[in-house]
Amino acid sequence: MNRIGSGAGSRVTTAVRTMRLRVEQLANTAGLVLGMLLLLVPGAAAQRTELKPGFNMFSPQQDVELGKRAAADAKKQLPSCNDPKVDAYLTELGMHLASKLPTNGVKYPFEFHCVNDKAINAFALPGGYVFVNRGAIEAGDNEGQLAAVMAHELSHVALRHGTNQVTKAEWAQGIFSIASGIFGDSTGGSLLTQLGAFAAGGVLLRYSRTAESQADVMGTQVLYDAGYDPRAMAQFFEKLEAETKGKNPPEFLSDHPNPEHRVGRVDEEIERLGPIQPNARRDSAEFEAIKREVLALPVVKKPTPGAPGAATPPAAPSHNYAAYQASSYSLNYPDNWKKYPDSDGRGASFAPEGGVLDDGSGHSALAYGLIIGVAKAKGDSNDASALQSATSQVIQDLQKANPSMKITRQGEHLRLNGHPGLSTYLSNDSPGGGQETDWVITVLRPTGLVYFICVAPQSAYDEYDKTFSAILDSVRLK
Ligand SMILES: [Zn+2]
Repeated sequence: MNRIGSGAGSRVTTAVRTMRLRVEQLANTAGLVLGMLLLLVPGAAAQRTELKPGFNMFSPQQDVELGKRAAADAKKQLPSCNDPKVDAYLTELGMHLASKLPTNGVKYPFEFHCVNDKAINAFALPGGYVFVNRGAIEAGDNEGQLAAVMAHELSHVALRHGTNQVTKAEWAQGIFSIASGIFGDSTGGSLLTQLGAFAAGGVLLRYSRTAESQADVMGTQVLYDAGYDPRAMAQFFEKLEAETKGKNPPEFLSDHPNPEHRVGRVDEEIERLGPIQPNARRDSAEFEAIKREVLALPVVKKPTPGAPGAATPPAAPSHNYAAYQASSYSLNYPDNWKKYPDSDGRGASFAPEGGVLDDGSGHSALAYGLIIGVAKAKGDSNDASALQSATSQVIQDLQKANPSMKITRQGEHLRLNGHPGLSTYLSNDSPGGGQETDWVITVLRPTGLVYFICVAPQSAYDEYDKTFSAILDSVRLK
């Protein structure tokens, strides 16, 4: 179990060598810095990684407020284990871990709930609302592995990854203008009321690989500080990776995407933490009893995405159109679709009833409809290379948010309301199961790159193609 030990060691040595050279140079002239040499003797253990929450336009109090509303909704929508013994056990374990969590003095109202779902998964909403699937308890070989999953989730809370992700998306001229949409205005225009709090909360659970790696590292520290053998973290991920080779990759990995060298990075942190106490906790009789209890719970069947009854396809788009006016464009859309204007008045989404789906893990996603946005870009409306590069940027941002998205056709020129545009076709996993087609049309305007994303499942795309064309024909750019 010393995969990266020698590599890390040689890095330390090199750093020491460089430092020594500098110290020697300095010593020649000043002779004051000899103390530093002592601190940097080769072989000294590296210190634990310091992690802090990233830039965030929300306050920790807003994390709590948002998490609380989303958690109330999650409790309504997700099947509960309905077993007070299990919840009490999760709460005791969770609170013990949370007591070692570096929260910068913020007091989060931690809650822990068991979800009756056999998928190996867990999630934490901002503010400290942690949901653990029975599948994660059943998959744990010992208490340490369950504690590892929970410490990972709690680290997302402490590092405030949910609202940090939203901040970053918003900062990059977000594909979805979410931050203001979540809180919205009191007139009911908020995403929260339109999509439901938990669905909106799903947006908060889309972590980057960097966020995942941070949660792994902090989770390992929390595990260690709480008296557990931290190697349980690496063992849990090794277990997940082994399952990835099977037919159904663990759901945990779709919510918590694998950073590169996940296990290696955890092992490295374990080395930084220092020697593992011989009496470190690994398992407990309580865990074994709770696991038996959970295994005996009745199974709640989950509707499979795409299966009959899971989601009824929306009604066909109406041939009657309603007008929509934004600050930099206007268009007509089928009058049986709903409009979801972004709060800044630039972007908007249009979808039929039933066109916005929960992808099965609490993430809301547009399965049928149209998304319009304006991304930051400079250049003249006739500048083909500026249009090309701004379009590539938007496509890359989309692919970042949708890892299975692939370009199927690109670089075709067209005109939108007389202005030169680019057409790109992409394929992606449809939230309703199967594949979807995404047709992206981009036009460069003084306000930035205006993009239109037409979305429908591949199997239904032909039925929607005419509607998308009619909408695009109606676009008037200002
Ligand atoms: Zn995660």
